[in-house]
Amino acid sequence: MDCWNSSTELRNYIFEGLKQLQIKPSNQRGQNFLIDANIIHFQIKQADIHSKDTILEIGGGLGNLTKCLAQNAKKVYVIENDRRMFNFLNDKFGVRSNIEIIYGDAVKVDFPSFTKCISNIPFQISSPITFKLLDYSFDLGIIMYQKEFAQRLFAKPGTKDYSRIAVMIQLRAVCKYLKTVKPTSFYPPPKIHSAIVSIQKLKKELIKDLNNFSKFNTLLFTNKKKTVRNILVNLMKRKVKQDILLPSKTLETVPHLERRVFTLTIDELNEIFKILKKRIGEDLWSDITSQNTK
Ligand code: SAH
Repeated sequence: MDCWNSSTELRNYIFEGLKQLQIKPSNQRGQNFLIDANIIHFQIKQADIHSKDTILEIGGGLGNLTKCLAQNAKKVYVIENDRRMFNFLNDKFGVRSNIEIIYGDAVKVDFPSFTKCISNIPFQISSPITFKLLDYSFDLGIIMYQKEFAQRLFAKPGTKDYSRIAVMIQLRAVCKYLKTVKPTSFYPPPKIHSAIVSIQKLKKELIKDLNNFSKFNTLLFTNKKKTVRNILVNLMKRKVKQDILLPSKTLETVPHLERRVFTLTIDELNEIFKILKKRIGEDLWSDITSQNTK
């Protein structure tokens, strides 16, 4: 059964809610509300919600998606940091035993445990939220991003979109591009197209020391057009005074030295990481990376 009878019904719901709260949607908070019922139904279908699922929704707004998520799920947690919308959601759904509204900044509050994250994420926090999500274990994410951001998640080595985000996501999850969403599906319409992406978290971490790998990855991708050799030599130069120079003999044992960073696959980055860590020791390695990733 469809959750909204029509886009007209959905649109009226949003307009009336905004009128009731006397709210002018805030650009800064990424307040673009879905008014296209087909898109919400598409997300719900992709989410394939079962009675054992606990859903996390980030940025509940007026609850247009929340209402549909709660139809089949065991529990829905909604995080919202606009006090007026939080109150609205509480009035509307607070009495429903399977919906809990959490007031706070989704970047900062701890997430409750969940099996699926189904959200139209405010665009301003796409990157920190995606990284944060990957630190939790869950089955599936169906997430709306800005189209450009979504494309960066899938970027392959050697392309201009390939970045530290692509590496960190692809190493921990399988992402699929599901659908482009046009601006007119929202009120007010954003300036850019959006895209719905599915994220399946891998059960096993491919890289053991993820924290340090992440710092290393940032260090390299800050200069992604340079060669690995160039970056490491610069790093050594800066470190000479403290006498923790990487000896040039050691440098020559590092693989892929002449490659430019943005052409390296995840496996190749990991090969470099592992060798460096072994050669120069873990403490020193984290010292170097932490000084370069502030
Ligand atoms: N889910 C609704 C609303 C999307 S608009 C829909 O699809 O139509 C994004 C929502 O996220 C807004 O309600 C905004 O107030 C909220 N929001 C923005 N920044 C947030 C943050 N840091 N933490 C939690 N919610 C946030």
